[in-house]
Amino acid sequence: EHVAIDQFLTDLVARRSHEVQEQNVSLIGADFAIVDIDRILLERAIINLIENARKYARGAPVWIASTRSANGYVYIRVVDEGPGIPADELGKVQNAFYRGKDSSVTQGVGLGLHITSRIIEAHNGTMSVSVGEHGGTTILLKLPYNQEATILGNSQQKMSIPGHVRPTPGK
Ligand code: ATP
Ligand code: MG
Repeated sequence: EHVAIDQFLTDLVARRSHEVQEQNVSLIGADFAIVDIDRILLERAIINLIENARKYARGAPVWIASTRSANGYVYIRVVDEGPGIPADELGKVQNAFYRGKDSSVTQGVGLGLHITSRIIEAHNGTMSVSVGEHGGTTILLKLPYNQEATILGNSQQKMSIPGHVRPTPGK
């Protein structure tokens, strides 16, 4: 399935903020890119990250951004400004059923990050977990994009300049 990542993220964030009043989640930018992935799986992968940010960062702002690099990958970042993951747990949180030491006050079974990483890896990508610049948590998803479809789609977007009226043939 061809998924246009910029449109996909725009729709997802808009729908989430409407459905569950997640006003603190914002998309700060998304490059055009076509990724071959099941839409439902990609949505699950990203919602798991948004739900974690909401659960652990407790109302602190959450940012999502997506960039396309020339080497064939899309990088999707989900960044929160919450308490962050302790350094000694960073390498374990994506293990199945792993729950953080401080997570006993929250609900969960420890599968969210595991599922996300499995979905991304099944599409030849990687997930990495790190401490953000200002504390907090940054999850980085790296996914290969469909080069042919992305280059074609990108040039078509550039040709259809909004407000530009094409001359009518035969007049
Ligand atoms: P589930 O997702 O299955 O409901 P869970 O949220 O505990 O349960 P994961 O999403 O896999 O499981 O996360 C594993 C652990 O990583 C969490 O228990 C928590 O300690 C830590 N963690 C994950 N995301 C964040 C975050 N954004 N901020 C702080 N800690 C996090
Ligand atoms: Mg979770």
